[in-house]
Amino acid sequence: MALRKGISRGEFSVYYQPQVNLATEELIGVEALVRWTHPEIGIISPGEFIPIAEETGSIHRLGEFVLNEACRQNKAWQDAGVDPFRVAVNISALQFAQKDLPLIVERALESSGLEPEYLELELTETVIQSAKSAIETMQALVELGVHLSIDDFGTGYSSLSYLKLFPIDTLKIDQHFTKNIETDAKDAALVKTIIRMAHELGLNVIAEGVETKAQAEFLKAEDCNQAQGYYYNKPMPAEELDSFLYRYKKSV
Ligand code: C2E
Ligand code: MG
Ligand code: MG
Ligand code: MG
Repeated sequence: MALRKGISRGEFSVYYQPQVNLATEELIGVEALVRWTHPEIGIISPGEFIPIAEETGSIHRLGEFVLNEACRQNKAWQDAGVDPFRVAVNISALQFAQKDLPLIVERALESSGLEPEYLELELTETVIQSAKSAIETMQALVELGVHLSIDDFGTGYSSLSYLKLFPIDTLKIDQHFTKNIETDAKDAALVKTIIRMAHELGLNVIAEGVETKAQAEFLKAEDCNQAQGYYYNKPMPAEELDSFLYRYKKSV
């Protein structure tokens, strides 16, 4: 299978997209996003191959690769003297359902030397199919010292009551809501409500897919803490982020 071969041939790499504090525009973290450079096709986006990786079971190896690489890279940035920030890694529902996920995470931390507080795992509402075992897995991950967030918040069909049960600290507002905040009063109302609810629950909130100044201003006015999107930066290879980080470091 091309995907499995691609993994062993080193065709996969990890891009990083900055996450910023909305008020100060300071970098507070990065999200790790996998890329596949296929020898014939070129760059293939994860939206195309993640579902195939899930169907074929390759997601476990691929997910472990991204996790290890993201931890290693973040430790390398710290060793280079950049002010520490978190790296957020997407965890597929299938990975989350695997009994040994906490062990895999622990190993990635150990082999990279990254402190757990600098790793965040992004889970989607789809992992929450079985609330009881989901809580147990989350608890085991939180005990390692890593942070958990809910990705694409508001797009799943899960009940809101999980927000009070799960040991998460961040909600990521899905980009479809962000996209329409200026044009669709109902999406704007949903975004405002998610921000307020998150804060009432003591959760951090980050808006995904911020593409315009007007969206950033709206979110700032609504007290959203953090943002991520093309308005700030596109996902980029680690080397490209390097120059950005070192420039940033000097300006602080
Ligand atoms: P996601 O985790 O919700 O990641 C955000 C996606 O939005 C990324 O797409 C990112 O490039 C894109 N994005 C960021 N800013 C903007 C913006 O301003 N406008 C628009 N239109 N898009 C923006 P990407 O990299 O293509 O990844 C798509 C999805 O694939 C991710 O959605 C995530 O669900 C999945 N994915 C990516 N990497 C991994 C991985 O390592 N493991 C797993 N399991 N899934 C991954
Ligand atoms: Mg994500
Ligand atoms: Mg998302
Ligand atoms: Mg998504």
